[in-house]
Amino acid sequence: MNLQLIDSIETWQSCRKSLQGSIGFVPTMGYLHAGHLSLVDKAKQECDIVVVSIYVNPSQFGANEDLSRYPRDLDRDLLLLDQAGVNYVITPSDSVMYPNGYKTWINVEQISNLYCGVSRPTHFRGVATIVAKLVNIVKPDWMYMGEKDFQQIVILEHMLRDLNFSTRICRCPLVREEDGLALSSRNVYLSQEERKQSLCLSQALNFAFQSCKSSQRDVSYLTDKMHSMIENMGGKVDYIAFVNSDDLSPVTTAIQGTRLLLAVYIGKTRLIDNLQMP
Ligand code: AMP
Repeated sequence: MNLQLIDSIETWQSCRKSLQGSIGFVPTMGYLHAGHLSLVDKAKQECDIVVVSIYVNPSQFGANEDLSRYPRDLDRDLLLLDQAGVNYVITPSDSVMYPNGYKTWINVEQISNLYCGVSRPTHFRGVATIVAKLVNIVKPDWMYMGEKDFQQIVILEHMLRDLNFSTRICRCPLVREEDGLALSSRNVYLSQEERKQSLCLSQALNFAFQSCKSSQRDVSYLTDKMHSMIENMGGKVDYIAFVNSDDLSPVTTAIQGTRLLLAVYIGKTRLIDNLQMP
């Protein structure tokens, strides 16, 4: 293996001082798939040194969410990252990230309470806090993030700007299975039947995309139709939102560039997806 595995912040910090060239950083929760690897590839193309973190961050999971059963396979992840030419993998422990007496939280106001923030009220506070900590530790030039988590990217761009970090986010396209399902570590939760039902997300997004192309751009009409499509296929809508892609404000007419955000329960598994409207 060429990659270096780093599990202590002190080790990284002394190593960081000697690094020269641009640093690209890909934060992940592990159990890697082609979506994660697309971020790594982009970072490899654009930066001299690529750093990946693998950390299942407890503070972004709600009390009744899937923290304890979130899938993990560090050995496999390391093999994939080594093959992809990653230079450093950081795997901090909970006691390092949140030592006893930890008290500091980052809250990106307003936009963290919308959409995914409604059913997951403490989620983005956990995400913003861990990413701020990781950026402060890694000190990358660029952070590569997937548009799979569209609201997350917009929130983190705000956070970096508001806190005067010099790190910038490179938005990377969402990667899908051949049949349209957005790749996600959580897809392993789906039974065979649920895997079929999960296609309701991409199909509903595509319906809205095609409707916009034929000039049906009324958001309340499109939302109603998508709702019926999803429920007919066995999904339960958490939210459907047509938003301005810069500030996530809701729109009533889908124009070119409007982002359609979607969260749906398939059985007990909550899946998210999104698509830019034509
Ligand atoms: P996670 O491990 O789920 O926290 O994701 C780590 C990073 O990978 C985030 O920037 C995600 O947006 C990105 N990511 C996850 N799934 C995909 C996907 N299907 N396509 C592109 N990026 C993704």
